[in-house]
Amino acid sequence: MKLEKVVIANRGEIALRVLRACRQLGLKTVAVHSTADRDLMHVKLADESICIGPAAAKDSYLNIPTIIAAAEATGASAIHPGYGFLSENADFAEMVEKSGFVFIGPTADTIRLMGDKVSAKKAMQRAGVPCVPGSEGALGDNAEENRALANKIGYPIIIKAAGGGGGRGMRVVYKDEELDDAIALTRREADMFFNNPAVYMEKFLENPRHIEFQVLSDSHGNAVYLGERDCSMQRRNQKVLEEAPAPFITEEQRRSIGERCAKACVDIGYRGAGTFEFLYENGEFYFIEMNTRVQVEHPVTEMITGIDIVREMICVAAGDPLSIRQEDIKIKGHAFECRINAEDPRTFLPSPGAITTLHVPGGPGVRWDSHIYQTYKVPPHYDSLVGKLIVHDDNRDLAIARTLEALDELVIEGIKTNIPLHKELLVDPVEIRGGASIHYLEEKLEKEKDLNLG
Ligand code: ADP
Repeated sequence: MKLEKVVIANRGEIALRVLRACRQLGLKTVAVHSTADRDLMHVKLADESICIGPAAAKDSYLNIPTIIAAAEATGASAIHPGYGFLSENADFAEMVEKSGFVFIGPTADTIRLMGDKVSAKKAMQRAGVPCVPGSEGALGDNAEENRALANKIGYPIIIKAAGGGGGRGMRVVYKDEELDDAIALTRREADMFFNNPAVYMEKFLENPRHIEFQVLSDSHGNAVYLGERDCSMQRRNQKVLEEAPAPFITEEQRRSIGERCAKACVDIGYRGAGTFEFLYENGEFYFIEMNTRVQVEHPVTEMITGIDIVREMICVAAGDPLSIRQEDIKIKGHAFECRINAEDPRTFLPSPGAITTLHVPGGPGVRWDSHIYQTYKVPPHYDSLVGKLIVHDDNRDLAIARTLEALDELVIEGIKTNIPLHKELLVDPVEIRGGASIHYLEEKLEKEKDLNLG
């Protein structure tokens, strides 16, 4: 291991997750935090900590020069970006490497290639990864050609910004008459929000599931896939409940898509942990984007494979070869992850404040990834995720029963949380059956709202 000290450029549960992996590897840690985050668990546990600015993320967790200065001041050798914040910012990765530090993630060029959805799709097509049918690259300005293309693909279609992210910069089109305006509008938005007016066209899938493949890749030409996760339970494009493996996906599908994802990693020179996101409809997978970082829901994959994804990503960033080969990876049992948010379970309004009581569940197969503790104050400035309850058992039915038991034991008082929503979801007949589409949760919530009002 050529690394000695790692700056953790994040906060909350993922900062603690990274700290644990570093300590296990014998690496020293530096926590960089905002003024609102002095009391975070990982700040207390880190070997050193540096306040990098005020609460607003743009002045602290997104402040590139300050984070690099913190690495210099502490003599660190690497920076782990976690997820969110700067984790998929190619300029940050580049600056980190140019300043002489190791970026624990892929190279800036790879982040750039995958951050542009048009170039990402082209790279995936070359590697044989199935994509949503659509335009070859960015759309031109010829209205007639665009109309011909839309008819060839077949309505409904979706216009998407090449530089888009966070569910913004896309528009669904149902007929010819709407097409020109939709392209013009999405182009303007794309230019304004993402500084890149390029847009492209895809078939709009009406009732898909969200299934994603986890990969790990080193800089010696080795890549493996760790199976898939089903993250279809979403509200406003935010995942709520995830599971692995995805219900009804066959061993043959897993191998065929997984192998192509691993091959794509080798083709593009990918390094670290990554996720290929697919929409899945009528038995077919359609690639939509790659996330070039560790994801919130990575633990469900860790539970069914026994592989520590964060540890692997640190080791491959240090130049080590992957510690596992594809034939060593065996999927065992089933795992769920409940994202526990500080929010009202009905209105979804954020609920920051002090935690007065905390009791966490335990027992076999139960894992609690969280930075909160009794008396900790959840600040109002950031994402509302306060913990992840991850539960594993031999099969899906047992895992559901065990998750319900763990949710019953989990007590968080002083703030509101979405624990009641998870309890309700895990007894829902459609969830129990498995394989619901990405629209299911919102439709269910909408129906219940009507019932409550009636
Ligand atoms: P972002 O980077 O903004 O998250 P994605 O390309 O991952 O954008 O798409 C976000 C969401 O938009 C998807 O999870 C899906 O719900 C919807 N979406 C994107 N492309 C399509 C498509 N071709 N058909 C149907 N829904 C789509």
